[in-house]
Amino acid sequence: MSVPLEVDAYWKRAVHSRPSHPKRKDKVVAHLNRRSVLIGAALTASACGSTSTTKGSVLVIGAGMAGLTAANDLARAGYQVTVLEARDRTGGRLCTDRSWPDAPLDLGASWIHGIDGNPVAELRDKFGVSTVVFNQDVVTAYSGGQRIDPEAMQADLMATMTAAADLATRPEYAHTSVAAGTDLALDRAHLPADAADRMRNTMRHLTQDGFGADAEQIPLWIFGTDHAEAGDQVVFPGGYDQLTTRLATELDVRLRHVVRHIAIHESSVRVETDQGSFSADRVLVTVPLGVLKTDAITFDPPLPAAKQQAIRTLGMGLYNKLFLRFDHRFWDDADMILEYGLAQEPVAAWFPLHRVSGVPMIVALRGGSVARRIETLDDTATVTEAMTALRAIWGDRVPEPLAHKVTRWSTDPYALGSYSYPGIDSVPGDRDALAAPVADRIFFAGEATHDTAAATVHGALLSGRREATRITALG
Ligand SMILES: Cc1cc2nc3c(=O)[nH]c(=O)nc-3n(C[C@H](O)[C@H](O)[C@H](O)COP(=O)(O)OP(=O)(O)OC[C@H]3O[C@@H](n4cnc5c(N)ncnc54)[C@H](O)[C@@H]3O)c2cc1C
Repeated sequence: MSVPLEVDAYWKRAVHSRPSHPKRKDKVVAHLNRRSVLIGAALTASACGSTSTTKGSVLVIGAGMAGLTAANDLARAGYQVTVLEARDRTGGRLCTDRSWPDAPLDLGASWIHGIDGNPVAELRDKFGVSTVVFNQDVVTAYSGGQRIDPEAMQADLMATMTAAADLATRPEYAHTSVAAGTDLALDRAHLPADAADRMRNTMRHLTQDGFGADAEQIPLWIFGTDHAEAGDQVVFPGGYDQLTTRLATELDVRLRHVVRHIAIHESSVRVETDQGSFSADRVLVTVPLGVLKTDAITFDPPLPAAKQQAIRTLGMGLYNKLFLRFDHRFWDDADMILEYGLAQEPVAAWFPLHRVSGVPMIVALRGGSVARRIETLDDTATVTEAMTALRAIWGDRVPEPLAHKVTRWSTDPYALGSYSYPGIDSVPGDRDALAAPVADRIFFAGEATHDTAAATVHGALLSGRREATRITALG
């Protein structure tokens, strides 16, 4: 029997909402003040009653969810918008592979994390794209091929998380890592040694899964927040990229335009690409944090010190997928299957996908240093390792896979990682510093710039909307 591990579901939603710091209240006030200024500016602009059909020109760099959302909002507001995209497709980290025609594979994001009040769910409804519910509540867990008692595991996890959450709100632990915080929490939870070990591994795994980084790299304060998203989690049987494809339909999107340099001139901004130069009144940069961390795009003048600091202290995590396709299903009918006791990783997580497409497929999701290690393997070694792990649970019942698909997001030159995380030295203002405009000419959006929903699709969408509002407010 499968028992829901509600604590884990709580974690998934909490970490994917990328919570902010305990001192958030001050930020909310600041945010509200800033919003009033923007609304005031917007009212002033409309009161002036511009009669021209275009309000000015904007170049949007990047055709992911953030860029396409902003581009649509700006075009609707009367701006002349051109989107410059390095890839030969739109969507960015929404990337659906259709080489298995009966089972589109989302190589990037899969889930809308909580559909209640989620702007991505609203977009889905507007475009009439179908989704299926795929919560992460029903979990089966194994160690050495034996089922772990789910009720005992749930109780252990609850005890560990409660102790960790209590520590997380204390200022003296502001720079303590999840790894160190877990050790402290386990001291308080008084679990038997084997259960404590399992919980240590669980916390490591959950951190790698949620942030694409290791427990040593993530601050404990993320436990002291309450930004869980509400409602079912859903996935797209026909592919998540249906949303970005639809968003791009009416826009002037220039694919295969790799931006190299952005320079502010007196009353315009010049953008150099490998296909020539473009000029506009303003530029909105939505490239991933991983790209900003390199000098792939240079800025003139150089970016302000606070922004450079934020680019350094925020981390770019890694999260990869291995899809395995079989001729029949041999796994449990659970949302997620966890496997402990493997030599090469703290916990292996498997997500059965047969419910989504009807095809007997399972996907392994790996984050942090585990994902980085696996990226050094070729496909054959990656699949062999995964098959060994599956056979440790189901033995001879596991046939050879018919096909596989592996992602390697850290080597993707236009992502250089999967999603951003708060580094151990991050401070609460880092994401705002990353989002701050430069001289009201260069603007920044993208998941990493969103204060409370970074690392998600809805965070990207909201950041694009935020910057479109900011630009519109300037007239
Ligand atoms: C494996 C994986 C799983 C994930 N799972 C989920 C999930 O289940 N749910 C969820 O909510 N989120 C998930 N995410 C995160 C989510 O995909 C991202 O937060 C979101 O898609 C980011 O959108 P964005 O517009 O900020 O960036 P992007 O989608 O990366 O868009 C930026 C664009 O900029 C372009 N670009 C880069 N460099 C240049 C250049 N020099 N010139 C021109 N263009 C350039 C890129 O090609 C890209 O198209 C996942 C991500 C990954 C990788």
